[in-house]
Amino acid sequence: MEESSGRDGAGPAAGPDQRNPGDESAPGGKQTGTVTCPDCHGSGRQRERPCPNCGGTGQVVRIVGDA
Ligand SMILES: [Zn+2]
Repeated sequence: MEESSGRDGAGPAAGPDQRNPGDESAPGGKQTGTVTCPDCHGSGRQRERPCPNCGGTGQVVRIVGDA
């Protein structure tokens, strides 16, 4: 008798380090910083929906390194 292991734990994890389409780099990366989302101007929303660019956070990660 075999037990099916299924696919537990393979689902998408919505963690604090998830990236949004507007992010240029992963949060916490080198020479990165959060800036106001240019699409929703920091509101995190576009009309009645969450901003797709920043994922509703109102901020996007941008590479600020210029050394
Ligand atoms: Zn936005």
